[in-house]
Amino acid sequence: MPYTPYHFGPSGFVGLVFKKYIDIPVFVLANVVVDVEVLVINLLGLGWPIHRYTHTLLIGALAGAVWALAAYPLRGLFKKIMTILHLPYRTSVRRMLISGVLGAWLHVLIDSIYHYDVRLFWPSRLRPLYELLTKQQVKTLCIGFFVLAFIEYLLIVKSRMKQKQSPKELTADKAATGRKEA
Ligand SMILES: [Zn+2]
Repeated sequence: MPYTPYHFGPSGFVGLVFKKYIDIPVFVLANVVVDVEVLVINLLGLGWPIHRYTHTLLIGALAGAVWALAAYPLRGLFKKIMTILHLPYRTSVRRMLISGVLGAWLHVLIDSIYHYDVRLFWPSRLRPLYELLTKQQVKTLCIGFFVLAFIEYLLIVKSRMKQKQSPKELTADKAATGRKEA
């Protein structure tokens, strides 16, 4: 993907769908971690290929795991941010590790369709997914997932707001519904 933010669509969507099992901040931010490689290669002027090691399943998993461990002390901050966003947040080292690795893998999978220089199965040179979809299709899908993730987010917040309604209001609601039905 030319820009990291494209990855926020698919990862946000998957993260929200599996929010019971996934640490969303770790999962989504793994995209940034994987792309640090591209930034460093560009800054140092190392030239092509710009996707080398973190853009492989093997080293990508390692990068995701290291990121998860580094993020563990940040869990209090993540909790605060998630609370502001009205999203539930429960985590553990295990959950963070799984989220870091899976987040990195989702990134590498998408990039391996888009970029010729991504060696998914490094050290093998096989590129089985390259051009499985056109670049435009990948971009469109990423944006589509972004929209879906946003809708999903709004639905989650709406249902949580409803849950938080005071028992008094709920009783009043029920009474109102009961009257309508009667
Ligand atoms: Zn990338």
